Amino acid sequence: MYKARIDDTDEIVLAQELLDLYPNYKHMVFVCLDKKCSIRMAPACIAEGSKRKSHFKKFRNQEHIDNCEYAVLTELSEKGKNQKLTNTQINKIGYPSVFNVQEKIENQENETYIENNNKDDDEGITGRGDIMKLYEFDSDNIKFDRRNKVQSIDRIIDWYLGFPYNRDVEIEINGKRIEYQYFFKKIKENTPSSRLLNDRIFYGMIMLSEKNQDAFEKYPDSVYITLLGFKKIDELSGQYENYSVKVDKRKISTGFLTRIRNKYNRLFENAYKDLKENNIVKNYGLYAFVYGNIDPNNDTILNVERHHITFRYDEVRKTMRER
Ligand SMILES: [Zn+2]
Repeated sequence: MYKARIDDTDEIVLAQELLDLYPNYKHMVFVCLDKKCSIRMAPACIAEGSKRKSHFKKFRNQEHIDNCEYAVLTELSEKGKNQKLTNTQINKIGYPSVFNVQEKIENQENETYIENNNKDDDEGITGRGDIMKLYEFDSDNIKFDRRNKVQSIDRIIDWYLGFPYNRDVEIEINGKRIEYQYFFKKIKENTPSSRLLNDRIFYGMIMLSEKNQDAFEKYPDSVYITLLGFKKIDELSGQYENYSVKVDKRKISTGFLTRIRNKYNRLFENAYKDLKENNIVKNYGLYAFVYGNIDPNNDTILNVERHHITFRYDEVRKTMRER
């Protein structure tokens, strides 16, 4: 489980953020998110350089209550990594089905999950209790609408990465529906810019070099991050140019920019350190995920639309088709 509740304060924390937020976490008590359950949870693999993803685990001699909502959802998420889930299971988990590209997000930055807990249950979704909403609530504090509309790409990416067998579900963007598996396009070696069109989420590995260190501090108005993916500019000589993503700082609110920057800096430092210490986790990479467009004046620059960029230091599995 990647989340737990701090017993004294009821605050919900992500295991991966524990070290930053609570360096004294060893002296704290964590419990299961489901208040009816509330069994004690222990942080695991929190230390830097840990090969496994940070998480919370229960103690060996204790079990979640039978209908612990959080345990059920966690189990489904684990299952979804390795096999196709049924429609009933998918609906229980929930996934973003509408990407609201243009919606204003500025006012929602300070909202907490509590405000998302109102009971205007008129959308025909049943059986989704409070835990469900807490669970859906992603790490970046973005309000998650009950109709599964999202205004940032983080949860879309969580679904894509977490459920490689279920990428046949659809998402709506600018009035068009598309399956997740076609919604994502990888920028890799020798990718012509003509393939980077339409409303898609583009993603690629970030070059781990000094060039990308402190990328958010280098220029006053823009951020450039160089990817490993490239396009050939000359077939004969084999010359190529790497793609880079460009963020226009002026198009993003300060709060949002700070969050994106902090996430980038943290993941970059971890990945760069792992590389330098030869502590590489198999199949892992530092990735940028971007919703945006190729620059009309330079077709190796991908302009990020508004705030639609995020990062993962993770494995991006291929789409699995279960027959
Ligand atoms: Zn529980």
